[in-house]
Amino acid sequence: MKVHEYQAKALFKEYGLPVDRHILCRSVDEAVSAYHEMNQQRVVIKAQVHTGGRGKAGGVKLASSEEEVRQYAGAILGMNIKGFTVDRVLLSEAVNIASEYYISVVTDRKSKCPIFMASRAGGMEIEQVAKETPEKIFKFPVDPLLGATDFKARQVAYSLFDDKAIVKQAVPLFQNLYRLFIEKDASLAEINPLVVTKEGELKAIDAKMTFDNNALFRHPEIKALGEPTEEEKIEQSAKDKGFSYVSLDGDIGCMVNGAGLAMATMDMIKLYNGEPANFLDIGGSSNPEKIVEAMKLLLSKGNIKVVLVNIFGGITRCDDVAKGLIEAFSILKSEIPVVIRLTGTNETEGRELLRQKLAGKNIAVATTMSEAGHKAVELASNK
Ligand code: GDP
Ligand code: MN
Repeated sequence: MKVHEYQAKALFKEYGLPVDRHILCRSVDEAVSAYHEMNQQRVVIKAQVHTGGRGKAGGVKLASSEEEVRQYAGAILGMNIKGFTVDRVLLSEAVNIASEYYISVVTDRKSKCPIFMASRAGGMEIEQVAKETPEKIFKFPVDPLLGATDFKARQVAYSLFDDKAIVKQAVPLFQNLYRLFIEKDASLAEINPLVVTKEGELKAIDAKMTFDNNALFRHPEIKALGEPTEEEKIEQSAKDKGFSYVSLDGDIGCMVNGAGLAMATMDMIKLYNGEPANFLDIGGSSNPEKIVEAMKLLLSKGNIKVVLVNIFGGITRCDDVAKGLIEAFSILKSEIPVVIRLTGTNETEGRELLRQKLAGKNIAVATTMSEAGHKAVELASNK
């Protein structure tokens, strides 16, 4: 789960990390009064959205007068950045930047532990640095049993700074960042840029945190900060109904029983040059209500061209599943073609039922998985 910069900065502050003074504003008028409250000529106005690269998109502006604050806050509020509409801006004191650095704590799958990631190429998007000049990124695995020891934090600090006075400030800062990461079950705690000011102080002028969804139950105060996207809301309502669902970009809706078969179904679609619209495991039941709910869920995404139902009757019997499907299709009003592959216990009876009862509808019945896959991809590309 993502949080906004101002929310991450509040956590930073709680953990003793040096952040710039800032005030959250929801309107131009609020920004103007925040400017007076800040009582400093130069301020930075920043869009608060759940995406990076705001600077490049015009969502970060330096203002030096009330008039500029009015102008930039007005321009940024309502702006669309990578699909997110800005409804809040952060007004921060402008800092005199001498140099910019990158530091984060992140879970690293390769070393299977948290790592410090550090770079002297701060301020730029780290993905870009990683792609173009990976040698500029330093990684320091942290033994989770030892934590961010003094020597570890010093090692990280010396990779970034040559000035001992800065290293001295950086060591407790990095240790606190690590503590925050661990105690709040974060998957990322990032400062980009961490700056050295002309006055010789370290300051976090940006803050980014993401949290492990599976640990949110331990942190109600963080869970409360969640602002799910439309897609995440659909995924959550699917979860509430007992489905395992992940939304994807393609146009072939998939309804499958069993997670392994659902993965194999998506692989197959890709192999035949189609694009799955989702992962959906409906579990092992032939309950028509569940099938209706699953169909509704699939069709709630506007761009579906065909639905592929792939059922293996192991414990559930194919004739039961067929009855469930028939009942479901009698309730649903949809013009979208459906390909059904049904195999396993009582499969001949099941397929026969489908052929009889669904004759005349836009539904194709297949025996093998590859037959169904080819048919679905063909139907999706025809439209
Ligand atoms: P991002 O583009 O979404 O990562 O937004 P940031 O908050 O990281 O800001 C982008 C860039 O704006 C930083 O790398 C700085 O170069 C610049 N910037 C942000 N705040 C200040 C500030 O207080 N003073 C100055 N001079 N530049 C700033
Ligand atoms: Mn940044």
